[in-house]
Amino acid sequence: MQTNVDYDVVIVGGGPSGLSFACSLRNENLKILVIEKSSPECFNTFKPDGREIALTHFSVNILKKMGVWDYIPKDAISKIKDAKIIDGKSGPLLGFTTKHQRIDALGYLVSNHLIRKVLVEKVKQFKNIHIKMDCVVENVIRSNDSALVCLSGSNNISAKLVVAADSRFSTIRRKIGIPAVMKDFSKVMIIAKMDHDRSHNQTALECFLYGRTVALLPLVGNCSSIIMTVSTEQVDSVLGLNDEQFNQMITQLFKGELGQMRQVGERCVYPLISVHAQTFISKRFALIGDAAVGMHPVTAHGFNLGLKGQDILAGLIKEQNSKGRDIGLFTVLKHYERKFIYLTRLLYFGTNGVVALFTNDTFFAKPIRKIVLKVAEHFPPVKLLITQHLTNS
Ligand SMILES: Cc1cc2nc3c(=O)[nH]c(=O)nc-3n(C[C@H](O)[C@H](O)[C@H](O)COP(=O)(O)OP(=O)(O)OC[C@H]3O[C@@H](n4cnc5c(N)ncnc54)[C@H](O)[C@@H]3O)c2cc1C
Repeated sequence: MQTNVDYDVVIVGGGPSGLSFACSLRNENLKILVIEKSSPECFNTFKPDGREIALTHFSVNILKKMGVWDYIPKDAISKIKDAKIIDGKSGPLLGFTTKHQRIDALGYLVSNHLIRKVLVEKVKQFKNIHIKMDCVVENVIRSNDSALVCLSGSNNISAKLVVAADSRFSTIRRKIGIPAVMKDFSKVMIIAKMDHDRSHNQTALECFLYGRTVALLPLVGNCSSIIMTVSTEQVDSVLGLNDEQFNQMITQLFKGELGQMRQVGERCVYPLISVHAQTFISKRFALIGDAAVGMHPVTAHGFNLGLKGQDILAGLIKEQNSKGRDIGLFTVLKHYERKFIYLTRLLYFGTNGVVALFTNDTFFAKPIRKIVLKVAEHFPPVKLLITQHLTNS
């Protein structure tokens, strides 16, 4: 017997993952509610936040399937054609390229605020999806047949399934009682958009320098996103630099190869904390996006994994719904977890291992860092594996 509920699916959090999931369930005979704590003014304002999201071919295909990709202006998408990794004071030790390959890019860069904008506009078009803003989900109480979503200052809402996409610091994950491993790197990312005199040739750079890590993502035109990772105690000194000093420092970090570099807009700051939930499911409940796995951004996996996870879960729900069965059954959720959690664990712990090695500046670690990159460069299966991971659709 089916229980009467207010909604089929309640999604906690209207960030990129929650909105993608809602979009994947568009036009189904399912009632979907997205609950977002931001006010309508914040939610409907799309200002650059420093994040340039490197999307894999696989993610682009999911966005196409959701009918979202074609709404991103083509002149706002930058192709990564080459990527180089530099260690210490060396030149590039490991590189990836699209040359002699049948692909036009290793990945595609799109600003986070644009992804959010397109998703918000898209989700609003569908009659089966509702958005409730200015509302905090405080708790979720589950029974065998349904879940009750407890809201701040208003009535509770019942659903067959609750999906939490409420960030890596998910309060709902905690309320449900799902443990998570969390790693605080005690470091901060400072991001600035810079324009420069010379072309970046669509080449992304990851420079594991001694003492700090600097990355360059090639944006449209002679413009790049510079991401500098510094220890928390160095943050104030970098943020305290005036524009001229900051421009000079960044120009020198890239050895003047792009000519003079100039900051455009603000410097944005993100603390580096990664998280992986022990399980992604519970009775009438699932985690997606950063609430399930919040990655260290160095390998640019975060939203790519968010897209993949929601795509798997949405696919299973649609299949179950097409057979007229209960979409919130534990067996459906278990299937989702089985299809997804092994991959995320591997990438999560693998990425943290890479970060641990390449931010280790000790006498013993320095030569190992170089050997690892040289082996990867000269051992074709490793390069092939990484390139395929980025470009397989
Ligand atoms: C510097 C940086 C660079 C990155 N680069 C890349 C990249 O190149 N490629 C890539 O794939 N990923 C990248 N990422 C990761 C990517 O940005 C995240 O994975 C993605 O934004 C996560 O989206 P989300 O919707 O899961 O979570 P969030 O964006 O954190 O959204 C969570 C939402 O839930 C809402 N919320 C929270 N609690 C509640 C509640 N109780 N009730 C109601 N609403 C609530 C919040 O207001 C928010 O809107 C990067 C991240 C950073 C920080």
